[in-house]
Amino acid sequence: MSVNPQFCHPPRLQLAQLPTPLQPLERLSAASPGPKIWVKRDDLTGSVLSGNKIRKLEYSLARATQQGCDTVITCGGLQSNHCRATALLCAQLGLRCHLVLRGEAPSLADGNYLLDQLAGAKISCFPAKQYQAKLDEILQRFAELYAKHGRKAAIIPTGASDATGVWGYFNAAKELAADCRRAGIQPRHILCATGSGGTQAGLTAGAFYFLDLAQVWGVNVCDDAQWFLDKVAADLAGWQQRYDLDCNVGAYRPKVIDGYVGPGYAKADPEIFACIAELARTEGLVLDPVYTGKAFYGLLQERAKGRFGDDGDIVFVHTGGVFGLFPQRAEFAFLNQ
Ligand SMILES: *Cc1c(COP(=O)(O)O)cnc(C)c1O
Repeated sequence: MSVNPQFCHPPRLQLAQLPTPLQPLERLSAASPGPKIWVKRDDLTGSVLSGNKIRKLEYSLARATQQGCDTVITCGGLQSNHCRATALLCAQLGLRCHLVLRGEAPSLADGNYLLDQLAGAKISCFPAKQYQAKLDEILQRFAELYAKHGRKAAIIPTGASDATGVWGYFNAAKELAADCRRAGIQPRHILCATGSGGTQAGLTAGAFYFLDLAQVWGVNVCDDAQWFLDKVAADLAGWQQRYDLDCNVGAYRPKVIDGYVGPGYAKADPEIFACIAELARTEGLVLDPVYTGKAFYGLLQERAKGRFGDDGDIVFVHTGGVFGLFPQRAEFAFLNQ
C-alpha cells in the first residue's frame, strides 16, 4: 500500500552530525536593504566529511549494504566533494570504494583528491570527452568486473542524486522547519547551490510538507534552468515510484535561478573569489568557488534586485565544499596586495 512520504522510513545509516546549526548573518544583512539572511550550516555535517552529500549517502549506503554490496562505485569531477565523502564513508563502513573521475590525474594530489587517496579509494581517471560519452558504460563495466571476482558492487550516480538520495534533503527540510520554529522565523525563500539536482529535489519536496510558506530556489552551477527542472522532476518521479509514495510530485514547485554559472563548472570569475573573501572577513563563513560561492553571490545579487522582497527572512543552505578552495588558491593572489 502506498504511503505518505512524511510517514515513510526507508533504511538509513547515521553518518552526518545532525542537526546542523541555523545562524543569522547579522552584519552582512544589515549592510544593505532586504530580508535577513540566515545560513543552514550543512558545511558542519562533519570535519573531513563535511557538506551536503553525507545526508544523501546516509540513504544510498544503507540501501547498498542492505542489498549485500561490499563495494561502492561512484563518479564525479576530479575535485568532487561527493566522491571524497563516499570514499571516507566507505572506509568508515568497511566497504571498498572505486571512484571514476573526470579529468587527468594530478601529479600532486590536492583538496578532495588527496582525501580520496588517504581514504584508500581506488581511483580511475578518464579524459573529459570519454567520461561524458561513456560514463554509464564505464561504471557498468567496473561493476561486472567486481562481480567476476565474487564481489557485489553498488553504483551510486553523480552526487548521489537519484530516487534514494532525495530522502537526504527531504528530511533536512523537516530539520530546517524545526530550526525556524526555534528561531521564531518563517522564511519565504530558501536557496541552495544545485549541481546534480538531488539537494534541490529533496528540499523542494520537503518544503511542500514542512515549510509550506517557503519557495526553494536552486542556483545552478552548471548547465541551465531547464536541465535542472528536468533532473529534479526525474529524481522526484523516481522517488515516488521506488518507494510507492502517496503524493503528487507534480504539485511541488522547483525553481531555478540561472545566470551565475560564470565561465563553466568549477571555473569562477574574480567577483566570486572577492565574494568568498568578503564573507569570510565579515562573518567568518567560508564558501567554495565551485558551488556555494556562486550560489551565495547569486543570492546577494538577486536580493539587491528585490527578488526576495524588502523584509522577512531568507535561508541559504551552506552545502560545504571547503576542500575545493585549496586547488584554486592562485585566484586569491589579490589577498597579498
Ligand atoms: C554537490 C554539491 C552541491 C550540489 O548539490 P547537488 O545535490 O549535487 O545538486 C552544492 N554544494 C556543494 C559544496 C556540493 O559538493
